[in-house]
Amino acid sequence: MIDEILMKKQWSKKDLIYLLELSQEEDIKKLFQYANKIRIQYVGKEVYYRGLIEFSNICNKDCLYCGIRKSNTKVMRYQMEKEEILREALWAYQEQYGSITLQSGEQTNSNYVKFCEDIILEINKKTKHALGITISMGEQEKEIYQKWFNAGASRYLLRIETSNELLYQKIHPQNENHSFQTRLACLRYLKDIGYQVGSGVMIGIPGQTCEDLANDLLFFEREDIDMIGMGPYIEQKDTPLYQQIEKVGYPILRDKQWRFQMSLKMIAIARILLKDVNIAATTALQALDPLGREKALKAGANVLMPIITNEEQRQKYQLYDQKPCINETAAQCKECLQRRVLSIANEIGYGKKGDSTHFLKRIR
Ligand code: SAM
Repeated sequence: MIDEILMKKQWSKKDLIYLLELSQEEDIKKLFQYANKIRIQYVGKEVYYRGLIEFSNICNKDCLYCGIRKSNTKVMRYQMEKEEILREALWAYQEQYGSITLQSGEQTNSNYVKFCEDIILEINKKTKHALGITISMGEQEKEIYQKWFNAGASRYLLRIETSNELLYQKIHPQNENHSFQTRLACLRYLKDIGYQVGSGVMIGIPGQTCEDLANDLLFFEREDIDMIGMGPYIEQKDTPLYQQIEKVGYPILRDKQWRFQMSLKMIAIARILLKDVNIAATTALQALDPLGREKALKAGANVLMPIITNEEQRQKYQLYDQKPCINETAAQCKECLQRRVLSIANEIGYGKKGDSTHFLKRIR
């Protein structure tokens, strides 16, 4: 049955659910091997780096699952100085990372918008546009996205979190600041403007079914997404979602092994379905399995996002408990990742921006 499905030219939703529900080790192995083959065929053997700079944990949003949500008073808030962000970006450039990702909590005030614009301009100036700049700063007005694009950011990450609007509402407060439709509109603005658009979902959210996950994959296909960054939902004890899990009882939360394995299956199926997109092996995978990112690279992922945020601040950017790498320096992360990538016989695309092949074809 699995061989038959893998060979099909087009998958139905039923096929996707069948693959997501695979439980025999041998079948899962076949799925991952096939995804790896497709990856090499469509995007090559190289793994691209995006040095991750988590430059602020100040956030206007109150997402019920997230450790840096506005109402979490236990978080020490920070906003890096421009010089610090620039120093980290230039470190990535010198280390031949090829690209960086600037990420923060969501802010919309004009000072923040200007601050980000200046940073993007400055990084581009200092690196002569040779460093790919991905940004991930949440929902903004279209003009703001345009401003940052004009300043030189070329990729944007904004996860849809789940394509099931009802489930989305369950994990966000019920108010205008947390609207599924706004998030969808933002993804479409980004595409209109000309960004390489990245999105993704959390896997193993309480109440999420395999059909929801199949729909998520079809959502990426329908919205013609260029880059995928998805990973397991991980508990964060100071959030309302976790407190609800504790109250109702753990059965509403899938165990860690399930969430991890399902995340790998989602990556593999996304690779086979979408073929030429960039897919990240996210840090959250490593929080559930020490070899999480290597396993994702063997199941179809082709991008790594080494954290280069300085040691003091990376501890304060904890979206979930047990975030890995919080006591390491950027240099230690680089060395460790290099060992990990080479251990599974992949190559590192040092000095390359690693644009999404899907995007390049799309704009052609
Ligand atoms: N403000 C930007 C935004 O909203 O896109 C970027 C920062 S936001 C914290 C980045 C991502 O972290 C979210 O899209 C979400 O998927 C992920 N995240 C937050 N809490 C998480 C948790 N408990 N487990 C797994 N991922 C989580």
